[in-house]
Amino acid sequence: MIKTSIEKTLDNAERLNGELNSFLSIEREHAVRQAEAIDAAGDDLPLKGYAIAVKDNICTKGMRTSCGSRILDKYKAHYDATAIERLNAAGAVLIGKTNMDEFAMGSSNESSAFGPAKNPWDISRVPGGSSGGSAVAVASGVVRAALGSETGGSVRQPASLCGIFGLKPTYGRISRYGLVAFASSLDNIGIFGREAEDIAKVLGVIAGRDGFDSTSADVPVPNYSAELGGEIAGKRIGVPRALFGEGLDAEVREKVEGVIENYRRLGAEIVDVELPNAKYCIAVYYIIATAEASSNLARYDGVRYGFRAENAGGLRQMYFQTREEGFGAEVKRRIMLGTYVLSSGYYDAYYAKAQKVRAMVKRDYQAAFTACDAILTPTSPSVAFKLGEKSDDPLAMYLNDVYTVSANLAGVPAISVPCGLSTEELPIGFQLVGNFWSESVLLNLAAAYSGQFPIDAKPRIYAD
Ligand code: GLN
Repeated sequence: MIKTSIEKTLDNAERLNGELNSFLSIEREHAVRQAEAIDAAGDDLPLKGYAIAVKDNICTKGMRTSCGSRILDKYKAHYDATAIERLNAAGAVLIGKTNMDEFAMGSSNESSAFGPAKNPWDISRVPGGSSGGSAVAVASGVVRAALGSETGGSVRQPASLCGIFGLKPTYGRISRYGLVAFASSLDNIGIFGREAEDIAKVLGVIAGRDGFDSTSADVPVPNYSAELGGEIAGKRIGVPRALFGEGLDAEVREKVEGVIENYRRLGAEIVDVELPNAKYCIAVYYIIATAEASSNLARYDGVRYGFRAENAGGLRQMYFQTREEGFGAEVKRRIMLGTYVLSSGYYDAYYAKAQKVRAMVKRDYQAAFTACDAILTPTSPSVAFKLGEKSDDPLAMYLNDVYTVSANLAGVPAISVPCGLSTEELPIGFQLVGNFWSESVLLNLAAAYSGQFPIDAKPRIYAD
């Protein structure tokens, strides 16, 4: 019975949520109803009864979709995102909406208006962000897979800090219809999985062209699950040595160096590659992402969606007050930065320049992929840090994204794979970046690695 297993999942989610705060809403009634319908129909479906958690910036009909923000606290979406529609049709059961940094802006989950999710390996530490709630829902054993969103690393970074797998697909691989916009030219829906295979299953269902998203690509969707378990002998893995220097935690470096050796042992060929413009990526990302965010977030004006400030004297005052009270500090900082880089006089110096460097970053990847099948780096420069440790220092927070943002700038796919624990028993992950549409290659390399070098440890807080 699907219903029985879904009820158990819901019980776990509710029981752990007091401590972990990974769900902003748990949709018991909806999930049980859906499970009953699946049991009654008895059809054979690709994700039959598969429980899934969804980040709270992905629209789910009739359910709260808050984006971790006070300004959308009471907002209920009136349609399902395409990814949700496809999951439903495949028999998956959505059990709840997960915690996140406000409007997906952050790397620690601490900018959520509803308090941070906690890392199940050590609840005094962040789970990473912005899709921290989804990462925790998977890492704590509540669900096998969850949806998150990626603009600059928000699936890979929390996957790494929580010891699970996280995929950011090629831009255009998964429809963005129903994903609340942060920075449209960088945004993707991404997938967390307990194993690479969980990601393969979900990706196979939700990927592919969608008439509602003109940026979704008409590229055939392979059977990712069937393609898992392929040979990795002879695969070429590129290593950009220059990125293993300053700012990288020694323990993380050591583990990731070990991963390179392990791949060599599995028969992969290790080659040196260069990404000469990698050093500009954080700056370029935070110009382009904030510029697009300042435009996308203009729609929250107290008229069309969600929260409206009370007792404002007049229309303009109502706009000001709604945005002042509805948005948190990080979102305001981004809107101001973005408005600044787009303003006349600064546009050419910042925004236009950043777009040019972005094109160079993409060319660097294209050149590197003539010599290798995937590029290996750490996912995050450190293990999970303490709650509050970086929340007053936006620049220190932004530097967490040093390894992840370039894949979003270039539009190429990337996956974070767990590779061990630090001396403090905190997960460490590595990242594989692939060429356009090479999700299968990445999933294969990830599955082959974890098949040979699994981590036999569970977080302190775990569902069963
Ligand atoms: N941490 C990055 C940021 O704050 C990435 C966020 C994301 O991928 N949504 O913008």
